[in-house]
Amino acid sequence: MGTFQDDDLDLLPQPAAKVQSSAKTTAIPDSDAIENKTAAPATASDNLDVDFGDEKITSFSDGLDKVNPEKGKSIRCALATDILKSKAAYTHYIEHGEKKGNYRCLRSLNTPPTGNEICCSKLGDNYVYVVVPVVVYTNADAKGALPEGPIEWKIGFIRIGRSLYRTIGELPAAITAEEDNKTQLKPEDLDLKLTRLTNGKWDVKALSKKARWRKNPQFVSEVKAAFAPFLDGRKLESKLGRRLTVLEYKALIASLAGGRAEDTDMSNIDDL
Ligand SMILES: [Zn+2]
Repeated sequence: MGTFQDDDLDLLPQPAAKVQSSAKTTAIPDSDAIENKTAAPATASDNLDVDFGDEKITSFSDGLDKVNPEKGKSIRCALATDILKSKAAYTHYIEHGEKKGNYRCLRSLNTPPTGNEICCSKLGDNYVYVVVPVVVYTNADAKGALPEGPIEWKIGFIRIGRSLYRTIGELPAAITAEEDNKTQLKPEDLDLKLTRLTNGKWDVKALSKKARWRKNPQFVSEVKAAFAPFLDGRKLESKLGRRLTVLEYKALIASLAGGRAEDTDMSNIDDL
């Protein structure tokens, strides 16, 4: 999270992404490191004790977290898709013990189904999901209004279905038509109010035609710096779901049916 302050840029904090550099390296990388004594061995002061509920564990973040307000709550955010492209894929959702989660369908978004995808034939319908990078205003009030002074923000992503994706895409044209305005707006120009309805669905409204964070070039560079570690798109893509090979899918499906998958090691599939 950072803080924007229009009139006092000295108070701008380090980009959120820099937090990552504090991660400790457990492997000794090379002989230079040993000579420089930069790779410190574990000492008695390394306390690995945790209790359940410990924030070190429960608030674990890889720097690009899902933005998911509680039911009945809203957030104010803006799309950062000009910095980092959204990603979309067919996915399956599995609700089964420790296998629970989203899995990438073997069917590509860009090709017609072959009818032979083992995931679809065994797990049922697939669903298109889109992961969209966003800037969230963390000091917006319940109505999405921002204070006059500093703006607090964080980066993250929203994971949305086809319907909300379509609605957001149509917002600029709706605003232009309403105001008889010739300016060609794009979705990322807008500040949005995203509400998680009590039925779990989303509602979206445009709050501003010019996203607040874009009004100052300094803010723009801060946000770009926060997204910099993710520009290859891989982290965002991983948020769509676990990616399995055909063989891994066979093993997963066998295990769901109570069978055994002796020929595949499922333990090395990355957690989300
Ligand atoms: Zn599938």
